[in-house]
Amino acid sequence: MEDCIFCKIANGEIGKLVYENDFVAAFDDLNPQAPVHTLIVPKKHIENIEALDFSHMGGEKCHQDANENNEGPCDGRYIKEIFKAIKEVAKLKGVSDSGYRIISNCGKDAGQSVMHLHFHLLAGKELGEKIV
Ligand code: AMP
Ligand code: ZN
Repeated sequence: MEDCIFCKIANGEIGKLVYENDFVAAFDDLNPQAPVHTLIVPKKHIENIEALDFSHMGGEKCHQDANENNEGPCDGRYIKEIFKAIKEVAKLKGVSDSGYRIISNCGKDAGQSVMHLHFHLLAGKELGEKIV
C-alpha cells in the first residue's frame, strides 16, 4: 500500500521503530494517551481485524514459517507474531509486571482512523476508568 503511513513506518521508510522482526513492527504513538503508548502492527498491509483472512492453508508450515513451498506467511502467522511482539514490547518498556491494556479499533463505530491493523499498548500508570 503506497500511501499507507503505517506501511511506511513499518518498512523503516519514515519514523523510528522500537521493535521489529520479519513480520511485525512497533513504534510509539504520535499522540500518546499514557506514559507508554506503543503501536504494534503487521508488516503486511491488513486493514483491520475484519480484513484478516484465515482461509489460507499454504501447506504443512502454514501458520508457522513461510518457505519456498508456501505462498508466504498467512494472516495467522502475523497474528501469532503480533502477540509475541506485544509481550516483547511490554518487556522492553518495563511494564510486563505493572500491566498494560491492548486496544484495536476496528471500523467506523470504533473510530479507527488509520486503516492498517494496529494494536495500541497503553501502560505506565493506572489507566483508570474502563469501558469494559
Ligand atoms: P486508531 O484511532 O485506533 O486508528 O489509532 C490511530 C493512532 O495512530 C492514533 O493514536 C494516532 O495518534 C496514531 N498515529 C497516527 N499517525 C501516526 C504516526 N505517523 N506515527 C505514530 N502514530 C501515529
Ligand atoms: Zn499499510
